[in-house]
Amino acid sequence: MKAKEKGLREIGEFGLIKRIRKWVNSSDPGLIQGIGDDVAVIEMGSKVLLVTTDILIEDIHFDRSWIDPFQLGRKALAVNLSDIASIGGTPKYFLISMGLPKNISLSFISSFYCGLKKEAKQFRVELVGGDTSLAQKIIINICLLGEGRRSDLLFRKGAKVGDDLFVSGTLGDAALGLKILKEKGKAKGSEGLIKKHLSPCPRIELGQAIAKHHLATAMIDISDGLLIDTSHLLEESGVGARIREDQIPLSGFYRKWVRSLSGNPLQFALSGGEDYELLFTSPCEMREKISPLARSFRIPITRIGEILPKKEGLHLIKKDGKAYSPSHLGFEHFK
Ligand code: ADP
Ligand code: MG
Repeated sequence: MKAKEKGLREIGEFGLIKRIRKWVNSSDPGLIQGIGDDVAVIEMGSKVLLVTTDILIEDIHFDRSWIDPFQLGRKALAVNLSDIASIGGTPKYFLISMGLPKNISLSFISSFYCGLKKEAKQFRVELVGGDTSLAQKIIINICLLGEGRRSDLLFRKGAKVGDDLFVSGTLGDAALGLKILKEKGKAKGSEGLIKKHLSPCPRIELGQAIAKHHLATAMIDISDGLLIDTSHLLEESGVGARIREDQIPLSGFYRKWVRSLSGNPLQFALSGGEDYELLFTSPCEMREKISPLARSFRIPITRIGEILPKKEGLHLIKKDGKAYSPSHLGFEHFK
């Protein structure tokens, strides 16, 4: 009997990307980094061209009853900017392609473009084109181009055994904000968390500073969740890591709201998506340079663990010192 062919449900989003990477297997000499990182990097004379793309689909990534078109425009660009931040590059130009149902009002689209323009102005990027088509639901795809100096850029690969593991900002706020939005609507006092979900702030300048001053060995942005994005960085670098649960940075809002929920209070910080914070690895001797960086950008930067040999895998240390391997890493499409 013929063996049953594996489906997307079994291999998941990341299993599919692994296969695509094998099928494509590009050997273009001008391609410094192809599939497998946050950004593709292409040789362009003295500088390198950075290219990244992300898709947002109605009822998968957003719900029109929670997010207004202005916020949606900002967020569509912000999630792409975050990928350029993760490599320490400078975003420059973008294209936007949209699938739109017939019943969308013109005022919805104009507010969307207002948000898009606001985000573009803040991060000094220019819209240069796109494509438009009829669709059953709203589909937004942005392709963002940027530039950088090859010697400064930070990839998912590059982490070394003994490096510290740092994260910017606080974790889990966006995922907890989304849960509150879904279950309670815009509940009083939850605005700080909901804002993190609806209006993420890409860490462009922080990423550039880390890259320019050569403070890190590898970097990724946390879009799918701390554990799953850490596992991507570990896989590309060929190393393992230990994360201390009591070091994971949590906001005051997070601590307050998570108390009313059942389950592991760290679940949103560990596996919730859409933080758009930076996760990076740094040699220990850089420690004294990291705190001034956090102060100058007014963004907390927290040492949450260290890089171990690959055979150690990824494990967490509980408050009582016990180590465990997480059974669930985070969100993945198709699974
Ligand atoms: P991120 O969360 O940072 O946007 P992804 O997990 O979406 O990263 O993608 C990881 C890598 O796989 C990137 O290099 C991306 O360009 C590539 N990739 C994702 N989907 C596809 C696809 N359908 N075809 C080719 N490459 C893809
Ligand atoms: Mg990314």
